[in-house]
Amino acid sequence: MVEQTLQATRDDNVFAFGDCAACPQPDSDRPVPPRAQAAHQQADALFKTLRNRITSGDAVPFVYNDHGSLINFSHYTTVGNLMGNLSGRSMYIEGKVARLFYVSLYRMHQVALHGPVRAGIIWLMDKISRAMQPRLKLH
Ligand SMILES: Cc1cc2nc3c(=O)[nH]c(=O)nc-3n(C[C@H](O)[C@H](O)[C@H](O)COP(=O)(O)OP(=O)(O)OC[C@H]3O[C@@H](n4cnc5c(N)ncnc54)[C@H](O)[C@@H]3O)c2cc1C
Repeated sequence: MVEQTLQATRDDNVFAFGDCAACPQPDSDRPVPPRAQAAHQQADALFKTLRNRITSGDAVPFVYNDHGSLINFSHYTTVGNLMGNLSGRSMYIEGKVARLFYVSLYRMHQVALHGPVRAGIIWLMDKISRAMQPRLKLH
């Protein structure tokens, strides 16, 4: 259980984020959903809070920004909805466009985790592995 600043309710010096944190949202009785984009955004907020702590600054309150969802059904299709930042309305997407968004987000996530060089190597290895593997599982 954490406050909006991601500080544990029972100890200001303990922080939690991502799936292991029950974080309240302003104007809602439901906590921040356990999703990858929430974990990513919380990591950014927590980075600022920890940096502020070194300079005796304030903890940054976390506000979840829902950019939408994408679901990939392997080679069958990809579907999702994107939230318009300005209009506040969601846009339904599917097929190749949705898959392009899905793959781009996945690779951007790898760049954030491993840096561009390692992410490039992972991408290359994925390509080679796909080319080498049989299209059918043979055992
Ligand atoms: C099947 C499935 C599909 C999902 N699909 C989506 C989706 O389409 N979109 C979306 O936004 N979210 C999706 N999610 C949710 C998303 O995966 C999580 O919200 C996100 O990964 C949370 O990130 P996290 O860093 O909090 O936790 P995790 O990604 O779970 O990372 C926790 C890490 O801590 C490690 N760990 C655990 N215990 C210890 C320990 N004692 N010591 C050291 N390390 C430890 C684990 O091995 C893991 O690497 C999906 C989840 C599942 C299970």
